[in-house]
Order: sequence, then structure tokens, then C-alpha cells
Amino acid sequence: MAAGAAYRILISDQHPTAVVLFGPPGSGKGTQAKLLTERLRLPHVSTGDMLREHIAAGTPLGIEVREIIKAGQLVSDPLVIRLVEDRLDRPDCALGVLLDGFPRTLDQAAMLLDLAGRRGLRLLVIHLKVDYDVITARLTGRRLCPQCGTLYNIRLKPPIVSGRCDIEGARLIVRDDDREEVIRQRLAAYDAQTMPVLEFFSTRVKFIEVDGSSRKPEDLSNEIVNWIQTAFDDAAEMTGSSGEGL
Ligand code: ADP
Repeated sequence: MAAGAAYRILISDQHPTAVVLFGPPGSGKGTQAKLLTERLRLPHVSTGDMLREHIAAGTPLGIEVREIIKAGQLVSDPLVIRLVEDRLDRPDCALGVLLDGFPRTLDQAAMLLDLAGRRGLRLLVIHLKVDYDVITARLTGRRLCPQCGTLYNIRLKPPIVSGRCDIEGARLIVRDDDREEVIRQRLAAYDAQTMPVLEFFSTRVKFIEVDGSSRKPEDLSNEIVNWIQTAFDDAAEMTGSSGEGL
């Protein structure tokens, strides 16, 4: 399907849509978020990015959350909800958003459902699944140049000379959070945090799981866009209009 098709339906529709993207660290979620925002023409709203912007700008909110984020803890639910709700009020969100990193807790999920009900916002939830052994292999293969910050992957993007930076010639290192035991911990934390939220959505809104273990990002993006198209077509059939009532 041409990328423009889903875009046409989204913009011709009077109901804004929030596409919510979930995926574990190392799943390629960032790449999918980028492809989807381009193809659906929806703004990419990442709570992590918004919080980091506040910290960088030194706003009162940024000062409030700085230590919490540094400690790797979650920011409070009311604060994050307020941030998302304010963001949705901006004109570029009139047709919808791609949500990334939110909701992270069951309370946030319930608040998003409530907010969607109040605003006539449709929710489409996507879970990008990747086999954890594949993720571990991807991330443990990463190597970093300590001098210029260039990232390599011994399997996917190796340096010209094994173990040496192409630019600096420096000896490449493994980042602390790319060590296998740390990766396993991060994946376990993702499971504990996200699984209940996905379960919550699976029975309440349109929900899809796509397997990204061995497919090219473009193919995966096609499958997701096709599914979004079908979700709109189903709703159009039910109501006899262009995607209403989903
Ligand atoms: P990660 O680096 O874990 O992928 P993000 O970039 O999405 O995380 O977010 C960075 C930090 O911002 C999180 O560790 C957390 O402290 C905070 N944060 C982001 N989104 C949320 C949210 N929805 N609820 C609570 N805290 C959040």
C-alpha cells in the first residue's frame, strides 16, 4: 500500500488519533517511530524527550524531575499526564499524535483512556516484539569510540580495522549498559512495567503485536501502516463514514 493512503484517511477524518508505540530497548522502536511519524504525518510525542528538554532548559518542571530521572525512577503519574495533555493542546496535534514512552503505568493507561474518551481521541496501540536473544545479540555487539562517540556493531556495522575506530584509531569499548547482564535486567524491567499496560489495552482498544526480530524496518513499517489502514476501514464500514467511531 502506498504510504499516502493512511495519511489521506487520517487527515480527512474529523477524529484525532493517538497511535501508541511500545517496544523494549533494542527493539528498533526509535526507527519505527521515525518512519511512522513521516508516513502518517503525526507529531512524535516522547515523554522522555519532553522531560529531557525541560531539564536542559532549566524550567521549574525540569528542576523538579532532574534527580528522579537521574536515579532511573519514574516521574509521577499526574506530572506526566499534565505534560501529555498540554502537548495535545498544541495545534500540530489537531489530527493526532504518535505517543512514545507513555503510558508507562496502569494509572497512566487509565488516564489516557479517560482523556481519549473526553476528547474523542481514538487509540491504536502497537507492540513491537523482538526476541530477547536477538536484542541481546544486537546490543552486546555494540562498540563505542571513547574519543569521538562513534557507535559500531561488530556484526552489523564493523569498523574497518577490528577493535579500532575508523576516525580516531582509538581502541573501541563496550558501554556499561550494553553488557549482557545489564541488558537482561533492562529487559526484565521492561516486562514488569509494560506487560500489565499492554494487557490493559489489549481488551479495550485496537491493538496489534508485530514481530520485529528478523525483518527490515521498512517491511515492518508497511505492516503497521497496513494495519492502521484496516483499522480505519473497519470503522468506516461500521459507521458508513470515513473511519468514524473507532
Ligand atoms: P528510556 O531511556 O528508558 O527509554 P525515556 O527516554 O522514554 O526512557 O525516558 C527517560 C526517563 O524519563 C525515564 O527513565 C523516566 O524517568 C522518565 N519518563 C519518561 N516517560 C515517562 C512516563 N510515561 N512516566 C514516568 N516517567 C517517565
